[in-house]
Amino acid sequence: MFDTILIANRGEIACRVIRTAKRLGIRTVAVYSDADAGALHVALADEAYHIGPPAARESYLLGDVILEVAVRSGAGAIHPGYGFLSENAGFAEACAKTGIVFIGPPCAAIRAMGSKSAAKEIMGAAGVPLVPGYHGQNQDPAFLRAEADRIGYPLLIKASAGGGGKGMRVVWNGPDFDEALSGAKREAMAGFGDDHVLMEKYLTRPRHIEIQVFADSQGNALHLFERDCSIQRRHQKVIEEAPASGMTAALREQMGAAAVAAARAINYVGAGTVEFLLDEDGSFYFMEMNTRLQVEHPVTEMITGLDLVEWQLRVAAGEPMPCSQEHIVIGGHAIEARIYAEDPAREFLPSIGKLRHLRTPSENAHVRIDSGVLQGDEVSIHYDPMIAKLVVWDSDRSSAIRRLRQALAEFQVVGVTTNTVFLGSVAAHPAFAAGEIDTSFIERHRSALFPEAAPASDRTLALAALDLMLEQADEAGQRAHSSSDPYSPWHRTNGWRLNFDNHHDLHFIDGEQAITVVVHYRSGGYILDLPGGSLFVRGERSAGGDILADLGGMRVKGTIVRHGNTLTILDQGKSHLLTRHDPSAAGDEDEAVAGRLTAPMPGKVVAIMAEIGVRVERGTPLIIMEAMKMEHTISAPCDGSVAEFHYPVGAVVNEGAELLDFTAEVEQPLP
Ligand code: ADP
Repeated sequence: MFDTILIANRGEIACRVIRTAKRLGIRTVAVYSDADAGALHVALADEAYHIGPPAARESYLLGDVILEVAVRSGAGAIHPGYGFLSENAGFAEACAKTGIVFIGPPCAAIRAMGSKSAAKEIMGAAGVPLVPGYHGQNQDPAFLRAEADRIGYPLLIKASAGGGGKGMRVVWNGPDFDEALSGAKREAMAGFGDDHVLMEKYLTRPRHIEIQVFADSQGNALHLFERDCSIQRRHQKVIEEAPASGMTAALREQMGAAAVAAARAINYVGAGTVEFLLDEDGSFYFMEMNTRLQVEHPVTEMITGLDLVEWQLRVAAGEPMPCSQEHIVIGGHAIEARIYAEDPAREFLPSIGKLRHLRTPSENAHVRIDSGVLQGDEVSIHYDPMIAKLVVWDSDRSSAIRRLRQALAEFQVVGVTTNTVFLGSVAAHPAFAAGEIDTSFIERHRSALFPEAAPASDRTLALAALDLMLEQADEAGQRAHSSSDPYSPWHRTNGWRLNFDNHHDLHFIDGEQAITVVVHYRSGGYILDLPGGSLFVRGERSAGGDILADLGGMRVKGTIVRHGNTLTILDQGKSHLLTRHDPSAAGDEDEAVAGRLTAPMPGKVVAIMAEIGVRVERGTPLIIMEAMKMEHTISAPCDGSVAEFHYPVGAVVNEGAELLDFTAEVEQPLP
């Protein structure tokens, strides 16, 4: 076994690998970019080396620099995680030349699976079932069109070099083919620098079922059952589970055998995943093989009780796999939900910003959190916007779903928009509970999964008002404490004021709506005049900063996170944003205005979303930039309008470039 390993990655996967290495007594070396100097993976590793600026191509993708660090730090092996250099055959080769073990398959296996077309060729020859289609070399448009007509419609055109759901086009009818082909080729060229495409029959309601495989250098190969990854948005997974609901032992056996045959066909060593599409009639087809550890590997670990990173390390060190096929059994059911900083209401566009508040459910035998961030960290444009993976386990699927819903409701993030409520809606959907899932689940249940934004409820307003009143009382209490006359009537917290009625008006802005909550001071609490009527409320703050409230006899616990005039009320798994209209507390808005309208990194303007002079609400997308293959939205920092855009669509801008002039709306006096 290795004494020291280097982890050529960041975020949750770097932390995940470090966790196992520590358990095995292996010294860990991290690498980090400027953006990650304070990151969790750096803190967890025994040693960490700076490798460059934030952009991945200038840091985490620099194979040479990383190899140099490995040599310098005495690492015997490099774990690439997923993404970055994990499927880079050239890097694997360079490691071998340097005498450092690449914790992954042999370069030939990476190469063989690197192109979707070539992979299908190999798999077809090995007897692994393929989706009917064309995956040859001939790229002549007329030839491809004739092939498309032969395969039939609907048809899917895929970039051979594609990944992450990019470079795919569905063609519903023959007449649409030519345009779709040129579109797919354009996208493939822009995204992957290679416009080679393949075509296959488009299955309309398939499930994405993948098999975890493992092989060692002694020639043993086995599988660790399936994962169902059908819940996808933009052809990208968001919820994964193991085992797949409704899977029969016979089908599992068949798919497992096909996956092992696939691994054997390319002399595979290490952890890999063979992805299949499972059609409604029970036929399954090879899609691609990922020659690395997958994001969703924890669900397999939870049902088998095995540590796949440990297996990777042992196999890379030349040991045989710790056990054989007949010793691996399924125990219970596990589900993973990927918590992303993204906005489901805006086509899941990444949301960047500072994690002002982050609280995750507590971990136990049923709940596992794989995270690489801490409160205060930035979700930046430079990397994948996944915040954490929430993994739950229980003895059966419905219990696991219940755990998932509960844990999602406890996940609190303020500072960026996240998909937690959306994931909660998926988990709560009766079709999900019934196992009626396929890759178009999210599209099909769109109306149920994307509820309209509702105005603040009386409960939300009451929690916000109570939080402000408790703070006022605290401040008054502190003033009295430090005063020479603690009994002065000026320090009273019950609203007593000479010549004043004992009430206080709180003005909030809820989206477009102005709401006033009148607070009447009463002994031991307050009466609030809310839109739905009056309510007696009282409460206190817990040591953890939560608010323990009694709302008209109902006891509730909420969390209120404040940033300037903005209050985020976290309650019952949802979060609601209110802005307090209080002229005396103004001034914080400027920070947002100055910070958000500049390019966060070098990139390209891909879309202008607003019109000059037309009023937009805070949060409305103004410009979409593309950087590091990821789209980034620059949104209105407050209500107002754009006075001028400084760059046209297509312009390449430098980091820090002022993208536009924004005129903030002058605050209107509230009724
Ligand atoms: P990528 O490498 O970009 O992730 P994949 O080939 O793995 O692309 O496919 C991603 C997803 O696209 C699949 O999980 C599935 O939802 C959908 N998909 C791929 N091929 C087909 C097909 N022939 N018919 C229907 N859906 C497909």
